[in-house]
Amino acid sequence: MSMFSVPCPSVESLDAILPEEPLLMMGAGPVPIPAAVAKANTIVINHLGGTMSKVIGQVKTMARYVFQTNTKWVLGVAGPGSAAMEMAISNLAWQGTRVLGIQNGFFSARMAEMGRRVGADVAVLEVPERSAAALEAVEAAIRRERPEVVTIVQGETSNTVWNHNLKEIAALAKAAGALVIVDAVCTLSTMPLDMDAWGIDAVITGGQKGLSSIPGVSLIAFSDAAWERMKHRDKANAHWCLDASLAENFWHNAGYHYTAPVSGVLALHEALRLVCAETLEKRFARHLKCSQALQAGIDAMGLELFTPATCRLNSVVGIRVPDGLTPAEICGHISAQHQVEISGSFGLPIVRIGQMGEQCREHNLFRTLHAFGRTMVDLGVAVDLPAGVAALEKSLSGGAARAAMSRAAA
Ligand SMILES: *Cc1c(COP(=O)(O)O)cnc(C)c1O
Repeated sequence: MSMFSVPCPSVESLDAILPEEPLLMMGAGPVPIPAAVAKANTIVINHLGGTMSKVIGQVKTMARYVFQTNTKWVLGVAGPGSAAMEMAISNLAWQGTRVLGIQNGFFSARMAEMGRRVGADVAVLEVPERSAAALEAVEAAIRRERPEVVTIVQGETSNTVWNHNLKEIAALAKAAGALVIVDAVCTLSTMPLDMDAWGIDAVITGGQKGLSSIPGVSLIAFSDAAWERMKHRDKANAHWCLDASLAENFWHNAGYHYTAPVSGVLALHEALRLVCAETLEKRFARHLKCSQALQAGIDAMGLELFTPATCRLNSVVGIRVPDGLTPAEICGHISAQHQVEISGSFGLPIVRIGQMGEQCREHNLFRTLHAFGRTMVDLGVAVDLPAGVAALEKSLSGGAARAAMSRAAA
């Protein structure tokens, strides 16, 4: 008889559980990772000492470029994008802090909820569906609520809305003396965000979206003004792991806070290095070109993009699900039949195809659009798949084809 009351279990190996051919991750995150990121993620080094210090130093330097900030206060976070979000909120808001949460959907609502949980006095500005936060509405809300902190998302991944007025909204908040927290989890490194020039006080991001790193290690940057507020609060942050003044020990003083996820930090280092090697200009252009081509393909196929063009997020494309189908049927079919993974969205009648980091590669676009169109046909929707693929090709090679034609004509 066993001496253990809980017997040793027999489980399947990962080889038995994972699909034989890896799925192409084209949903709303996590996204595919480059080989250099995958390789770094296999390495464990000492979390303290000279090698780690050098890695941390470079991560901060590269992150400043990606955030477009000269602030000293860049830190990594062991945890998902939501942990970075909670670090921003819990260090800058507490009992009685007046917070204005600009709410476009699921993720911006999460920031407001975190504010309520730390005891802040949270007023919510509800943004109408399928539209960006309007300047007049934000201005009126700031006048009414006199917030000390304003929270806003750059790209609301859940319903694929882009707050294109972010720069102007940050200026309004700043003029009213509020600190601005921006959720850039899905958008960072996929489209412009100028932390310093736009006067943003805290920017958060995750690993597994625009940066094309692994999930579970995130980044945050605080402005000097935000850092001052955090340093001079009366009561310590109730979140010990997320206390920025404790995290300063590791991220700025080569000391111990908690054991950092070293492999994940190495992976993040490589993801950031690849962003720097590509440059932000080229990376933004790649994302724009690929996302617009995907949108053109979906449209030419005869399907409807969920968000109007004026506030459409490029990093994640939302497609309205045709009548009679559910998002789960579509996602299940494309995954099982074509080994392509896409996402539904928290009860909305849409499916989402990501355009973040490694997802924005031409071969991934062709495979995904083809698999998506075939899925629609299989499920009985009359889409024009050849027209969709032709529109994708035309959009991707538009510039090159036009240049070749004008060379031929000359
Ligand atoms: C994915 C996402 C989050 C949450 O990130 P997790 O890593 O899942 O915690 C927050 N905000 C936005 C805009 C996102 O896209």
